[in-house]
Amino acid sequence: MSARPLADPARAAGWDAPGERVGFFTDTSICIGCKACEVACKEWNDVPEDGLVFLDSSYDNTGTLGASTWRHVAFIEQAIPLGGQDAGLTEARDLVAEVDLDALPATPPETHDGFRWLMSSDVCKHCTHAACLDVCPTGALFRTEFGTVVVQEDICNGCGYCVPACPFGVIDQRHADGRVWKCTLCYDRLHVGLEPACAQACPTKSIQFGPLSELRERARDRVETLHGRGVTAARLYGDDDGDGVGGMGAFFLLLDDPEVYRLPPDPVVTTRDVRAMWKAAAGAAVALVGLTAAVAGRRR
Ligand code: SF4
Ligand code: SF4
Repeated sequence: MSARPLADPARAAGWDAPGERVGFFTDTSICIGCKACEVACKEWNDVPEDGLVFLDSSYDNTGTLGASTWRHVAFIEQAIPLGGQDAGLTEARDLVAEVDLDALPATPPETHDGFRWLMSSDVCKHCTHAACLDVCPTGALFRTEFGTVVVQEDICNGCGYCVPACPFGVIDQRHADGRVWKCTLCYDRLHVGLEPACAQACPTKSIQFGPLSELRERARDRVETLHGRGVTAARLYGDDDGDGVGGMGAFFLLLDDPEVYRLPPDPVVTTRDVRAMWKAAAGAAVALVGLTAAVAGRRR
C-alpha cells in the first residue's frame, strides 16, 4: 500500500530553503560484521553501554536496535552455500584506498560447506512519512533541514506514543530516564559538514552517506553489477517513493527477502488513515446530533 508521494519532506515540514535530502545506502553485500559502526555511534553520541554479552542464539552481542543501540549489525546464519557470491571487497578496495583491505577477513566465515552469513547494519529509516513524528504531542520529534527525523532529548516527556507508531520497531524508551532515543543521523555532525560517525567508521563502505538521489543511483548500479555476477537475489529495500512510508532516508541492498533480515516486507506508515478516521468520526458526530435533534423535535 503506497503513501502519498512527497518530493521534499524538509520543505513540506516548513523549511524555506532546505539543502538536498541526505541519507544512508547500506550495501549489506560488503558488510563484514565488524560492528565498527555500532561502536562509533556509541562513542560519538555518548550512548550508554547496553549489555554487550553474546546472545545464546548468535555471535551477535547487541541483539536489536534499541534506546541504547542506534546502529545494530544483524548476524544471520543460513544453511545456504555462498556459491559464486563475491563478498564485494574488490569494489571496496577501489573505494577506500587508505584502508588495507587485504588485512581484513573476507565475509566470515567464507566457507563452502553449505553455510553462509548475512550481515546488515540496521538503523532508523528516517522515513519520508514518519509515524513517530506524526504522533509526538510535544514537538520533541522534528524533521530537520536535511530531511532526517530527530528526537530532542530535552523536550521528550516520555509519553512513548512514538514507540508503537514506528513500523520498524526502531524508536525505543530508555528505562533509566523514560525518554525515547534513536539515531539522529548525527545531526550535529551534518551541521559542520561531517559525515555521520557510523559511515565514517565503516571500513568497507558498506554504509554510504550522501544525497539520497545520488545514493539511489549508485545502489541501482550495484544491484546490476551483482546480478551480472549471478547474485540474482540482490535487491533494494526502501528506495521506492511508492512504498508504504513514501521511501526511506536509509535504504538497503539485501541478498535475501527482507523478513530474513527481520525487516517488514511491506511497511506502512501507521498514521496513514488517521485523517480519514477523524473525518469519519466527525461525520458520525454530525449525523448523531441531527438524529437527536429530529427525535427531540418529534417528541414536542
Ligand atoms: S523508522 Fe521509525 S523511528 Fe525512524 S523515522 Fe521511521 S517511524 Fe520514525
Ligand atoms: S548516523 Fe550517527 S546517530 Fe545514526 S547510527 Fe550513525 S552514528 Fe549513530
